[in-house]
Amino acid sequence: MTPVDDPNHDLYLDEAATRSEMARVFDVCNSCRRCVDLCSSFPTLFEMLDRFDDHAAGNMTPAQQDAVVDACFQCTLCSVGCPHGPGTDDAVDMPRLMLRATAMQLDNGHRGTRDKITAQFLGRADLVGRLNTRTAAAANKVVEAPAGSWLRRLHSRLTGITATRRLPTYATERFSTWFARRPRITMQKKQASVTLFPTCLVEYQATDVGKDLVKVYERNGIECGVSNAKCCGAPWLHAGEVDRFAKLAAHNVATLADEVRSGTPIVVPQPTCSHVVKHHYAEHVPESSRADAELVAAHTYDAAEYLMMLHRGDDYVLDTDFTGSVPRTITYHAPSHLRSQETGLTSRDLMRLTGARIAVIQQSAGIESLWGYRAADDTIASDQARRFISAVERVHAQQSGAVAGDCHLANTVIAEHTELVAVHPIQIIARAYGIPGSS
Ligand code: SF4
Ligand code: SF4
Repeated sequence: MTPVDDPNHDLYLDEAATRSEMARVFDVCNSCRRCVDLCSSFPTLFEMLDRFDDHAAGNMTPAQQDAVVDACFQCTLCSVGCPHGPGTDDAVDMPRLMLRATAMQLDNGHRGTRDKITAQFLGRADLVGRLNTRTAAAANKVVEAPAGSWLRRLHSRLTGITATRRLPTYATERFSTWFARRPRITMQKKQASVTLFPTCLVEYQATDVGKDLVKVYERNGIECGVSNAKCCGAPWLHAGEVDRFAKLAAHNVATLADEVRSGTPIVVPQPTCSHVVKHHYAEHVPESSRADAELVAAHTYDAAEYLMMLHRGDDYVLDTDFTGSVPRTITYHAPSHLRSQETGLTSRDLMRLTGARIAVIQQSAGIESLWGYRAADDTIASDQARRFISAVERVHAQQSGAVAGDCHLANTVIAEHTELVAVHPIQIIARAYGIPGSS
């Protein structure tokens, strides 16, 4: 691995080395410009370089480089099909470079106290989730208070979390609590067993996604257990808190590797979390845990990816008896962190089995993890959300029908800006089976 990829390398947080690597990569991107429409990092970069006579990134000041870093919200879309990516002589990996630059800024004292405080709130997703599900009525009063209201502004002042964008609400019962108390079903024919890793979003907020996932899997003879792993750590990673992320990754790798070794693959229903497990744990854990991290990555699946893998194999029968409510058309958002896993559009393929016609939106919603809720990201997120929502509305106007997306945060953006209710693809399948919704 190069210093760009390896957080355990001596030069990973070195400012001069990181800035020199940024200059090298920015020059390659400038000669390519394929990603100019993906986010504001690239236009910011290219506009600056166009102002230099020689267009060379070596002219950029640290502040100019930091403007590019600060505009990146880690959608990872620029890694999809990059012709200069890892494995080529240029070895460009913009998302990883942006993560390294953020960590370097933090380590070298270039990030403010407010960012550090915000990271403490957003990074401790399990602690905050446990407290907020226990006090859901009160917590949701704050979360659901109108954008810009005094309550949201006070909350923002204390935490650094956005006062203007919609936040996901908390459930009154955790997913794992529901899972432990639910009536057991007798499976006619057990076909497989999995461990569900709900991660914080499904454990504390989108618990209905987890419930429908269990019901769909059990209907298909897949026995489910729930992992003891903690929040995947994405907010720490995206905030540049590499030591805290590495500690969490090491804990989760040990837990998940034991679960894999006991014979159950890991199923993660949120794309950012599965992306982190598959693409970041191995490089952050100590050398002694790397083999376990690779074992976990190789046996971790998105919810639809796992079902479609079994369906496409020879020894498994997926129930395609969709006698429930099947939408004629579905506007489907394929989240960036699923696209960059390059496992195909398996949620689309799964929903297609119902007979629904599906139109796919591939744009980033501008929010890729809880870290994206920091108030400092308001402008970036709003610009990106505007483009995303206009794509959703354009496609939905052509075909109406249901709206689906795997990412709960992107679905929250849709709810914030439209009257549409976007659900997880597994919930489309649950209703198509005739499984009633939880509420
Ligand atoms: S990230 Fe890759 S595809 Fe995008 S502009 Fe840079 S070199 Fe081109
Ligand atoms: S990861 Fe996304 S936001 Fe960051 S530079 Fe790449 S395309 Fe832009």
